Formats: sequence, structure tokens, C-alpha cells
Amino acid sequence: MFECISAISTASGASGVAIIRLSGENCFEIASKMFKSKTNFNDFEPYKLYTGYIDCGDFTDFGMCVKFKAPKSYTGEDMVEFHCHGGIAITKAVLTKTFDLGARPALNGEFTKRAFLNGKMSLSACEGLIDMINAESNLSAKCGFYLYREKLLKTVLAMQDELTNILASIDVDIDYPEDDVPSCDKNQVKSRLFNLKNRLNDIISTYDKASKVNCGVKVAICGKPNVGKSSLLNALLQCDRAIVTSVPGTTRDVVEGTTDINGVKFTFFDTAGIRESSDEVEKIGIVRSYSAINEGDVVLFLADGSCDFDEEDKIILDKIKDFNYISVLTKSDISKINNFKADIEISSKNNLNIDELKQLIYQKSSVAQCNFDGDFLTTQRHYYAIKDAVNFIDSALYNIEIMPLDIITVDIKSAWDKLGLISGLNCEQEVVDEIFSKFCVGK
Ligand code: GDP
Repeated sequence: MFECISAISTASGASGVAIIRLSGENCFEIASKMFKSKTNFNDFEPYKLYTGYIDCGDFTDFGMCVKFKAPKSYTGEDMVEFHCHGGIAITKAVLTKTFDLGARPALNGEFTKRAFLNGKMSLSACEGLIDMINAESNLSAKCGFYLYREKLLKTVLAMQDELTNILASIDVDIDYPEDDVPSCDKNQVKSRLFNLKNRLNDIISTYDKASKVNCGVKVAICGKPNVGKSSLLNALLQCDRAIVTSVPGTTRDVVEGTTDINGVKFTFFDTAGIRESSDEVEKIGIVRSYSAINEGDVVLFLADGSCDFDEEDKIILDKIKDFNYISVLTKSDISKINNFKADIEISSKNNLNIDELKQLIYQKSSVAQCNFDGDFLTTQRHYYAIKDAVNFIDSALYNIEIMPLDIITVDIKSAWDKLGLISGLNCEQEVVDEIFSKFCVGK
């Protein structure tokens, strides 16, 4: 067991209840000095909440306390939680008291790091937990849960097992070449490696789409000045995010805002109208508009339904036609002049077809094309680990044609190691430290 650490595990500020958590050596001793109830702390049944008085130094709070006995605890060590009243003064006082009695402040993610070091969780499960805590949308939380509950790890462990079995069949051949053991069939090794490679590639192919879940899907709104871009942004976000005026060129910088569509975070970028301009500020805005369009997963091309489709519209449409775009005819509440055939007609003013447009955007986004019931990748670190494993399998498949079988075992072992980076068992210390530094204190 490591030395005792302590931290406030709930968010700071005034609240009904706050939790101060302790883990490691002496945490029971510290708690027994701080918590007084009808039952002596040392006689507490683990995992059961007891009411009592919490010593806060200069004052006392009335709250609850629970003890967790190693190894059946979050960290795998002895742990204690004080449930006191929420509030800055109370939580700080409880925490300070734990320090006075010998605990030290926990570092970012140190409770979870201990869970990992004590074998309670894999590294990918810890990463899933960070994703869940940071999730801003339901789907993001769902994807975090997939990692947290070790679903990806189970798939990866099965593939590591297959690599181990392939290695074993080759080793038998090397160790007992003259024995009665049937010799290893090269074609069979090849087909098993191909099989594995295909399965890994299937998982890799999900990354581009699935990774959008955590960072959010980007949507650029573009069109000439005054077509109704800012009005649409406001209608999509249901708030007055961008300034709306009848003066062309009002939006000089890219204005962004986020909203949830079907449980996924979408970030909309209201770009400055794209047109030739001599105004220095507007010119910078137009450059930024182009980069928002380039980075957009989906681009909305807006044309004004109450005006003719003119040369300026054509130039913009021409510029975005190779992107993943949806054409939108705006201002459908006033008489239609424009006969451009758009994918959808909307009125931001009267909120007409805004929800339908949202669904169209969702369907057009790459997230809609991802199957979140199967295996998928959302984390760059996992993506590279699997990609590297595939490279080693490729190398084995190449070498098997020109080298003796024992040489390819090196590639197979390396592929196995790369997959092991997902569990974290053969991860370098810096990688582990980097992952836990992203956690908040108290987790
Ligand atoms: P942007 O320059 O493309 O961002 O366009 P704005 O959103 O600022 O709108 C330009 C003008 O069109 C403003 O006067 C808006 O009130 C008006 N407008 C925008 N959307 C609608 C709409 O759906 N119906 C009507 N009638 N007017 C709209």
C-alpha cells in the first residue's frame, strides 16, 4: 500500500453534500481520529455508511463516513470517504484536518492511477473514465463507458491470445523439428495473420468517424453576406449567439457555438460572408472562414430564397462543392424568388425546418456512419498502438515468404507488445503519467 493521500472528490462550490476521499496506509487511523459516532470507527462494517461528527479543526460538521477494505476498493487499497456538507469552508477544513493527521494532497488522477498500479483497472479503462467525466454529450459518455468497462480491451486481449497461439505453433516447430509433432504449416500461419490484420484494420477504420464523438462534429455555415448565416446559427443554438443585421459584412470573424444533436456535440461556425473585400478586417475574417470550411466535417451552403441565385452564390458553391455539404435555401417565410434546388428550405425567423436541418446534418456527419455497438476507436493512443501492431503483422507476412519461420517470431512478438500498450501493462512511465495528468484532483 502507498502512503495516504487525500482530496476533495466533488466539484468545488456550495452544494448539499461533498466527498473527501482518503486512500492508502494509515487512512483508517486518520479517519478514526476524525470521525465520532455511536459505533467506533474501527468496528465499522466496510461499505456501509455511518452518521456522526466530523472533526473540521475549528468546528464540527455532522455527516457520514464509509470505509472500504483493501483490495475491494476503487484504488485496491484501504479507503475512507467523508460525506460532509458541501461548501468551500467545510470541505477545505475537513481536507486540512486529514493533512494535519498525516495524509498528503493527492495529485491529479492519483486515486485512479493507484487503481491502475494495483491492477484494478487497465490503462484503457482509466482513459475511458476520463472520457466519461469530460463527456459533453450522451454519445461521448457512452463511448467512454465502452472503454471503461474494458470492451476494447477484451477484443485486444483475444487478439493477443491469437498471436501467442501462433507463436506457440512456430516455437514447437523450432524446438522439436525432428519429433513426431506435425510441422508448422506456413500457409496456416499466413492465413491466421491475415485474419488478425483484417480484424485490426476494421477497428482502425472506425477511428476517423468515432473520434469525432469526443471532440465534437464541426459544421461550417457559409454563403454570401446577408443570406442568413448568423440567423441560422442563432436558430440552431436557440440563443442570440451571433449579431444579426441587414448590413452585409457584419460577421467579420468566425463565431462559433455548440449544441447537441442526437446525443452528439456539434460545433457550428458562422463564417464571415465569402466575397472579395478591400476591408482589412473583413479579409482576415474571410481567410478564417476558409479554414473553418476546410476543417468542417459538414459544410452548410446557404442561398437566400428571397433573391436570385447570382454569380456570387455560384462562386461560393463552386468553392465548397467538393466538401461534404448540404445546400440550404433560407428565408422560406417570404416569397420565394430563388429557384436554386436546395436540399432543404428553412426559415430561421419562423423556426421552420430547423429540426429537420439538424437531422440532415447528423445524417451527413461521419458520426452517423459509425456503429457504436461494435468495436470502435476514439483515442489517438489506441489508434497508433493498433496501427503499429498491423505494421508488424505486415512485416511478418512479408518475411514469412523469404525467411525461416523463427525470424518472423520477432515481428509477431512486437505486434503483441504494441497491442499490450492498450492495457498499459507494457507502457512507458511517461505515457502513464501523461494520461493521469489529464484527470482532476480527487479522481
Ligand atoms: P448573414 O450576413 O448571412 O449572417 O445574415 P444575417 O443572419 O445577419 O441576416 C441578414 C438579414 O436577413 C437580417 O436582416 C435578418 O433579419 C434577415 N433574415 C435572416 N434569416 C431570415 C429568415 O428566415 N426570414 C426573414 N424574413 N429574414 C431573415
